[in-house]
Amino acid sequence: MTGLFDEARMAFGSLSDAATGLTHPTIRLGVTGLSRAGKTVFITALIHDLLHGARLPLFTPMATGRIARAYLEPQPDDRLPRFAYEEHLAALTAGDERHWPQSTRRLSQLRLTLEYEPTRFFARHTHGGRLSIDIVDYPGEWLLDLPLLALSYEAWSTATLAANRKGPRKQFAAEWHAHLGTLDVAAPADEAVAAEAARMFTAYLARCRADDVSLSSLPPGRFLMPGDLDGSPLLTFAPLDLEAKPSGGRGSLHALMRRRYDSYVAHVVRPFFFDHFARLDRQIVLVDVLTALNAGSEALTDLSAALTGVLECFRVGTRSWASQLFGRRIDAIVFAASKADLLHHSSHDRLEAILEALLADAAERAQFSGARIDAVAMSAIRATREAVIRQKGEDLACIAGVPEKGERIGKEVFDGMSEAAIFPGDLPEDPGPALAGEFEGHLKFVRFRPPPMKDDLSPHRGFPHIRLDRALEFLIGDAFR
Ligand code: GDP
Repeated sequence: MTGLFDEARMAFGSLSDAATGLTHPTIRLGVTGLSRAGKTVFITALIHDLLHGARLPLFTPMATGRIARAYLEPQPDDRLPRFAYEEHLAALTAGDERHWPQSTRRLSQLRLTLEYEPTRFFARHTHGGRLSIDIVDYPGEWLLDLPLLALSYEAWSTATLAANRKGPRKQFAAEWHAHLGTLDVAAPADEAVAAEAARMFTAYLARCRADDVSLSSLPPGRFLMPGDLDGSPLLTFAPLDLEAKPSGGRGSLHALMRRRYDSYVAHVVRPFFFDHFARLDRQIVLVDVLTALNAGSEALTDLSAALTGVLECFRVGTRSWASQLFGRRIDAIVFAASKADLLHHSSHDRLEAILEALLADAAERAQFSGARIDAVAMSAIRATREAVIRQKGEDLACIAGVPEKGERIGKEVFDGMSEAAIFPGDLPEDPGPALAGEFEGHLKFVRFRPPPMKDDLSPHRGFPHIRLDRALEFLIGDAFR
């Protein structure tokens, strides 16, 4: 790790706000979460709502009318792709053709500047009440890679194999493990053998990620979310069973796998850490709690382990590897249980309580201290409205929206055009049973189409949402004070 410390000092020695090319304050806001957690939808809604002065009653600068103007700036960093805001907005507002935008596949960025009425005389004269927000969208899978910085190939291999010899991982790993048993780690390195091992390992990771299993902690992150590395030799490695067989020397399969792993850490994980992650000021982590609740106790245990991993990345303190690496720290983190619109509002506080309980557990395990943390049940774009259905003399609190074509509940298959009211089920008041996995398969979900929106971008037309403003207030509200 000593090399890493030196590197970190050099990286931060050369980094200052001057590097952003701005004379007024900038906040780098990280938006992350595992694949399909809702990052793209959140960022698109956030930008649209800020640009058009949407009603965000819990976001004080907006609610008090202090934001005078909001506009997008040219892309600040020539090496990074721009977040495709206009394209995503067009998808969401395409009338009858409206659809959810293309999900996050790689890191992207967008700079939004807000001009506001400062509260302090001093602020007015130093930077004229301007704040830029660099929104950085990146896959949560990449974040969960950061511990690899401190693990050798052998330690990673052993830990990975130990983890997938138990629980639900075991059955999905069976085929790949059988293949591993046939490999001679000391045999001469063979590209085709390495590629096949990597292919089987990736197939195992993908199976663990499927909705019905919904595991979260599945590094290396680029295997499931390769970004620009799709097909790259950097991804042709896999764990080997080094306990059962003697390790190989120079030129062996073992040596090849170790070299590839080291390259992955050096050329993928490390640059991500220094160039992006370590420069963030604020962070929102979107979490698909509902899918994990429905998938059962293993998915929840795994989600909790992933949240511990996330908090370890953000931990501040002398014993934290992350905070020893960079002096700068994240001030505020919002964990948001996304897609809360799939539940009736009577369950929103309960969803929040479940996320809080998961986080309390994870924070204790990660010995977390440092940033302010909030948990919120959120929907960045609310696709449903509420309805009551009377069934067998009982009123059921339902949600109504247009289910995506082909979605089904029981025998009913939806056509993608008509509205349907669905009783998703209620969450319990006490998070205990839900966290014990007692909600496996209890909740009824379908994917809804985005709500119909006019494409006229008249002032105050924001997307309908749930608690997006609360998340925003927690993340950046203080920057306007
Ligand atoms: P990403 O992979 O984190 O970028 O995920 P996306 O933002 O692309 O969201 C994945 C999918 O989740 C979308 O295509 C929608 O189907 C769904 N989704 C995201 N946000 C919401 C929301 O607020 N409400 C509802 N009902 N669905 C959402």
